[in-house]
Amino acid sequence: MKLYGDYHTHTIYSHGSGSIRDNVEAALKKGLKEIAICDHGPGHYLYGVKKKNIPIMREEIDRLNEEYSKRDIKILLGVEANLTGFDGNIDMDDELIKQTDILLLGYHYGVVPEGLKNGLGLYIMNPITKFLPIGRKTALELNTMAFVKAINNYSIDFVTHPGSKAKVDIRTLAREAGKVGTALEINSKHSQLSVESIEIAMKEDVEFIINSDAHTPEDVGNIEKAIKRAKDAGLPMDRIRNLII
Ligand SMILES: [Zn+2]
Ligand SMILES: [Zn+2]
Repeated sequence: MKLYGDYHTHTIYSHGSGSIRDNVEAALKKGLKEIAICDHGPGHYLYGVKKKNIPIMREEIDRLNEEYSKRDIKILLGVEANLTGFDGNIDMDDELIKQTDILLLGYHYGVVPEGLKNGLGLYIMNPITKFLPIGRKTALELNTMAFVKAINNYSIDFVTHPGSKAKVDIRTLAREAGKVGTALEINSKHSQLSVESIEIAMKEDVEFIINSDAHTPEDVGNIEKAIKRAKDAGLPMDRIRNLII
């Protein structure tokens, strides 16, 4: 069993510590065939990628792909987009999406929402329900609906760390993700998908993907924790998109 590609790594374009080249070199050392550079979506007010940097990253990656073409590694440009509203909107527009090779979707605190209703619901209610049970069920239903709408609105390759920070109905998300070909991520840096969530999701016809979510070059390709959770849940390894069995 071998990791073919790590499709979730961060660089200095958001809040990672390495350059694109650093991550590529790290991926080569790990024997990966593909690596995706997926910095945080531009809607995050602390560490989102600057919109103006996306074409710059595109050029840099095109150049590096030429340079590394003989070394048997392919570099992809992606973004870990953020949900910005219950209508399933994200912080990437068509012009930006066009420049990417893959598109990830996640939920993170600190995103500028679309209007007051979305702000209160997505970005104020979710952090509160972490500590208080009030509104937990409503939050879960609304979060799930927002994710389902987003994966239908956009061509999302996979949902990053589902259930992290914003709780979701994992079975519904897995079922709907399966219908549109969006995979669910087993993230090595975050504890989602959890063993319990994998057990629920695997009952649906959905694919999984396993990634490091590296924020340092040293972490690129490190997926041990995620592999352990997948194994503990009894997930057949051939349901994980980026493993060579
Ligand atoms: Zn994330
Ligand atoms: Zn990430």
